[in-house]
Amino acid sequence: MSTDVAALTGLDVPTGLLIGGEWTGGKGGGRMPVVDPATEAALTEVANATEDDALEAVSAAHAALPGWAATPPRQRAECLRRAFDLMTQRGEQIARLMSAENGKSLRDARAETTYAAEFLRWYAEEAVRIDGNLTVAPAGANKVLVTRQPVGVSVLVTPWNFPAAMATRKLGPALAAGCSVVLKPASETPLTALAVAGLLEEAGVPAGVVNVVQTSRPGPVVGAMMADPRVRKLSFTGSTEVGRILLRQAAGTVLSCSMELGGNAPFIVFDDADLDAAIAGALIAKMRNGGEACTAANRFYVHEAVAAEYTARLADAFGKLTVGPGLEEGTDVGPLVNEDTRRKVSGLVTGAADDGGQVVLGGRAPDRRGYFYQPTVIDQVPASARIAATEIFGPVAPIIRFSDEAQLLQWANASEYGLVCYVYTNDLRRGLRVSEALETGMVGLNRGLVSDPAAPFGGVKQSGLGREGGHDGLLEFMETKYIATEW
Ligand code: NAP
Ligand code: MG
Repeated sequence: MSTDVAALTGLDVPTGLLIGGEWTGGKGGGRMPVVDPATEAALTEVANATEDDALEAVSAAHAALPGWAATPPRQRAECLRRAFDLMTQRGEQIARLMSAENGKSLRDARAETTYAAEFLRWYAEEAVRIDGNLTVAPAGANKVLVTRQPVGVSVLVTPWNFPAAMATRKLGPALAAGCSVVLKPASETPLTALAVAGLLEEAGVPAGVVNVVQTSRPGPVVGAMMADPRVRKLSFTGSTEVGRILLRQAAGTVLSCSMELGGNAPFIVFDDADLDAAIAGALIAKMRNGGEACTAANRFYVHEAVAAEYTARLADAFGKLTVGPGLEEGTDVGPLVNEDTRRKVSGLVTGAADDGGQVVLGGRAPDRRGYFYQPTVIDQVPASARIAATEIFGPVAPIIRFSDEAQLLQWANASEYGLVCYVYTNDLRRGLRVSEALETGMVGLNRGLVSDPAAPFGGVKQSGLGREGGHDGLLEFMETKYIATEW
């Protein structure tokens, strides 16, 4: 059946598990379907890993670890750089594959492919910048020598919403640091991860350094790996709910955890904002990936002096977006990933209307096959509405009006999440003051996009632990060793 995928995307995507450099069908887990959310039909089937497969992958990674850790950084860098080149050459095919299995528009998929490849290039560059330091102990008797070593076998668990970028954002730094890995991609979107693993193999990453175990039973499979003392790192991107479960499990082996969890981003428009910029920013912060992003603007706080104008312009801009299958050129907003997600989005919109919000655009699913939902704008939403406290993960913008900066900050910070905030104002002093006061790991100041491979991405509060990207992302896969030395 994978011939269909090849015809659709131009890529011959492997559908097995990758363990110790071999593509295998696994040990009795059978196969699981991958669904195209624009048609609700199965695209293909992939191998479905069991706990035994996962532990075999850990063994393969453990066996490959010493060799890879001892490989000169320059050589590790060149593998990553070749993978960047391959991913860039095949960008169009990978974008089509992502559109097919995730539903996102080709435009979003192309942008993600570029972004994802960039992590391979960035970490090719970081691999040769692994530093330590040497200081004199205050007593003068000895030197404090600090070096860094790869943390060891790393389990990487990724979500379906950015199937390529969430994989390379972990694979890049792990491989640069000298770690071997087992990647467990989301069951909705395993094909992109398998394609990326294929590229890394082709780029010369040795057998066993990268293993991939997709599964329909993530709890037991990830749990088995986390309980294995040979595993020394978990890097997880997904929901806060699952993140909490994994942090509890990590206690068993005192496993080092990097967690990129959920968000509930405020998008703040002050009365002195450049409204053109605030509309352009909202189109990215809200509608990129159809709103299925942890960084998606989730609640719009608009100053009452400009709220009527801003809302009208936002509804106009969202109303012009074309909703359709991701693989059709010209589509701006693809389907949501599955029916559960659509039901949740639809329930939140109904709830916001019950709470007093006025639906000024959309508010329903179009009458067609596929998990589509219309771009939606809801005005006059009360600050206490449930929609403002919930990660929407769909193309819906609730607008809450504010008049006072102190009140605004209180609302913005009244969340268990703290991933990103967007702030629009032409007063730089206000912009920086508010940025400092917001309880968040990242701020987009007059910008609707913060993601950059060179920048430390991550959240505070229950949005996560640790950072990905930049130099910080490399350090997540390294341990610090201190040698007290005299000479
Ligand atoms: P999810 O349900 O938490 O799933 C994430 C990953 O964990 C998937 O691979 C999933 O496998 C796996 N998983 C599910 N239950 C598990 C368990 N009990 N034990 C171990 N692994 C388990 O999240 P999602 O719905 O796919 O993704 C959306 C969430 O990711 C949102 O909350 C979003 O904010 C967050 N996200 C965060 C960032 C960030 O950088 N902070 C980036 C992107 C997304 P299955 O696919 O088989 O369920
Ligand atoms: Mg799918």
